[in-house]
Amino acid sequence: MRWGVVCALLWALAWNVEAWAAPAATVRVSALAEGPTHGDIAAVRAATGWHPTGAAIRQREADRWWRIDVDAGAEPTPGTWIVSIREAYDAQLVLYAPPDYRPRRLSTFDASSTQIGSRHRLALDLPADALRAPVFVEVIRARNQPMGVSAETLQTYVLADNARVRFTSAILSAELLLAVVAAIFAFALRRWMLLLFCVWVLSVAVYLVVMRGEIVALAPWFPGDLAMRAAGLGISLGLLAAYAFLFVLLQVRRRYPRVARLYRYTLVATALLLVLIPVVPVMTVAPYLVNVLLLVLGLLALGTGLARAFAGDREALFFLAGWGLVSIVAMVRAVYFLRFAGTPEWLEHLHPLADAFGALILVLATARAARYAEREMVSARRSATTDALTGLPNRALLDSGAERLLDAAHARGHALSVLFVDLDHFKQVNDRFGHDVGDACLHAMAGILRRHVRASDLVARYGGEEFVLVLDGADAAAAHRVARSLRDAVEGEGRDVGTCAVGLTVSIGVATLRSGDEVAGLFKRADEALYRAKRDGRNRIVADTPRPLDAQPEPA
Ligand code: GH3
Ligand code: MG
Ligand code: MG
Repeated sequence: MRWGVVCALLWALAWNVEAWAAPAATVRVSALAEGPTHGDIAAVRAATGWHPTGAAIRQREADRWWRIDVDAGAEPTPGTWIVSIREAYDAQLVLYAPPDYRPRRLSTFDASSTQIGSRHRLALDLPADALRAPVFVEVIRARNQPMGVSAETLQTYVLADNARVRFTSAILSAELLLAVVAAIFAFALRRWMLLLFCVWVLSVAVYLVVMRGEIVALAPWFPGDLAMRAAGLGISLGLLAAYAFLFVLLQVRRRYPRVARLYRYTLVATALLLVLIPVVPVMTVAPYLVNVLLLVLGLLALGTGLARAFAGDREALFFLAGWGLVSIVAMVRAVYFLRFAGTPEWLEHLHPLADAFGALILVLATARAARYAEREMVSARRSATTDALTGLPNRALLDSGAERLLDAAHARGHALSVLFVDLDHFKQVNDRFGHDVGDACLHAMAGILRRHVRASDLVARYGGEEFVLVLDGADAAAAHRVARSLRDAVEGEGRDVGTCAVGLTVSIGVATLRSGDEVAGLFKRADEALYRAKRDGRNRIVADTPRPLDAQPEPA
């Protein structure tokens, strides 16, 4: 799945290259300092004193009237042309285009205003002949940030516009998918911090839908300016949620206590400011202050991530792979915003792409961490039931397993036998050859025991140099055969362990299931039989049957 998402994103990017490569005619924008009154287009056309402002309409210069001159060469491509305005958002413009200079209202969020293509840009269509005369723009409601102007043929514009829409839908799908995946992880793993991350991804998705004007198609009844303000607030809160998430992910509080204080104060200040913006609308500087604070947070998160990555933290490397780009793009956007420079188009595309990529990396990192945690849990569970030295099940597992086998044997009327196996004079082995050789003997013993049981049987280290076998389906005779084979194998293979002539032998007590037996009783009889085997001289097998089957060592 992860490669599917990566490929979808790359494809979306590749699609979009055609839009970036689209050739455009040169556009010159100029402003009129002392403009005539509202709607007086005749006076505007006659006006002199236009001053150039580059290729963007900039409200900061406080002009009401603007003029767009398109230079499409001496022979412009015949047909329809589009003059388009980027990042108009909640701006309200009236355009007066040649030849008739009738007013045309254009606004991203006004469902009643019509235009060619999507609402990613405001688009004015006009015939190629009309390009020789200027287009005038009256700004009814302005934006603080510049609005870029460009001109191209209808065909080029529609191609690029389609690419922008496809790109946005691809990114949107990726964001929504990642939000769902993250939510599933949050609930499945009970990692509630991941919900902060969901907030971030969803806020980016909502921001895209609103700011690209798709909200008009989805919910034409919804007031556009309100949607835009909510989306702006949402994405700032989302970014804040993301930084809070990173604060936890990078363990800032534990690793960098001093940075943590600054980080936390900045988080709280930004949150307060964001909550106050809609309540106190006079705070025109607030959006700029928020951007400064977000810039500080970005630097802190990036710096912490880098410091941790240099310290060899793999989680931090994941952070840098995904969120480094998100932070950098967010910071670059903030810088453009603070400079009143308007965001370049490549940045507008890189922004959601980086977010989706960052989200993907984070989901992968979480999945990896979850898998790691699960593996640790499995190994913890195994080490709780396994003997570390021999790798055999330990007593805890034996008790529960024996209970299960006994119940089944009683229920089906099967035979079942238990072997208690104890190494003879093992203390002397340790004393003569050392503890390491003793350990090697126990290890070798485990290997021999494993060979003497079937999958349905149980073998466990009962403690020290004592082992227990539960033989499913074995009556007294069968159990005795296994015991004899085992004793012979130990005597043969245990003569030398490594380079030491340890001469291992075992004593074995055998008990066979009787009706009404419980695990404790059965084990007790096997232990008593083992005691008798020891008492009678070791290296032998003694059964709990009234008449001993074998009281003497048998020939090998
Ligand atoms: P017996 O024939 O009566 O069973 O004599 P024994 O020496 O085998 O019995 P005893 O119970 O006196 O001693 C058991 C010894 O097993 C004591 C201890 O040093 C050794 N032992 C128990 N666990 C381990 C272990 O994990 N590694 C090693 N190397 N020795 C162990
Ligand atoms: Mg012993
Ligand atoms: Mg013992």
